[in-house]
Formats: sequence, structure tokens, C-alpha cells
Amino acid sequence: MWAAGNVVFPAGQVIVAASAGSMAAAMINADLIEEDVARKLAA
Ligand SMILES: Cc1cc2nc3c(=O)[nH]c(=O)nc-3n(C[C@H](O)[C@H](O)[C@H](O)COP(=O)(O)OP(=O)(O)OC[C@H]3O[C@@H](n4cnc5c(N)ncnc54)[C@H](O)[C@@H]3O)c2cc1C
Repeated sequence: MWAAGNVVFPAGQVIVAASAGSMAAAMINADLIEEDVARKLAA
């Protein structure tokens, strides 16, 4: 599970939440690609 923003860092302001959201999105994308490649290699 990925989370970003005030739910994980209540003291952060908008710019911090936006930055964390952007990083979380990139990591979700990387996770999905990794899973896809692993599935293809196993097939
Ligand atoms: C009084 C106050 C003043 C502030 N002033 C500033 C400022 O001047 N400058 C600044 O940069 N930051 C300011 N902040 C901080 C800023 O509001 C937060 O950093 C920012 O909103 C965090 O964004 P977020 O997306 O993490 O959370 P949020 O903006 O809180 O978004 C979370 C959303 O999830 C929704 N939600 C919650 N539970 C559920 C659920 N179960 N199902 C579906 N939706 C749900 C909520 O309704 C909300 O819309 C202020 C905060 C407060 C409280």
C-alpha cells in the first residue's frame, strides 16, 4: 500500500504533500513495471 500527504505526515504543507504524491506515483509505476516484467519472465 502506498500513501502520501498529511495521512502519513500531518505537519507537511501543500508542496510537501504534492512532492510525496508525485514520488509515490513514480514508485507505483515502477512497482507495476517490475511485476509485469517478472510475470513475463516466469511465463
Ligand atoms: C487550517 C489549515 C491551514 C493550512 N494552510 C496552509 C497553507 O497556507 N499553505 C500550505 O501549503 N498548506 C497549508 N495547510 C496544509 C495543507 O492543507 C495540507 O498540507 C494539504 O491539504 C495536504 O494534502 P493531502 O492531499 O495530503 O490531504 P487533504 O488535502 O486533507 O486531502 C485528503 C482528502 O481525503 C478525503 N478523505 C478523507 N477520508 C476519506 C475517506 N475515507 N474516503 C474518501 N476520501 C476521504 C478528505 O475529505 C480530503 O478531501 C493548512 C492546513 C490547515 C488544517
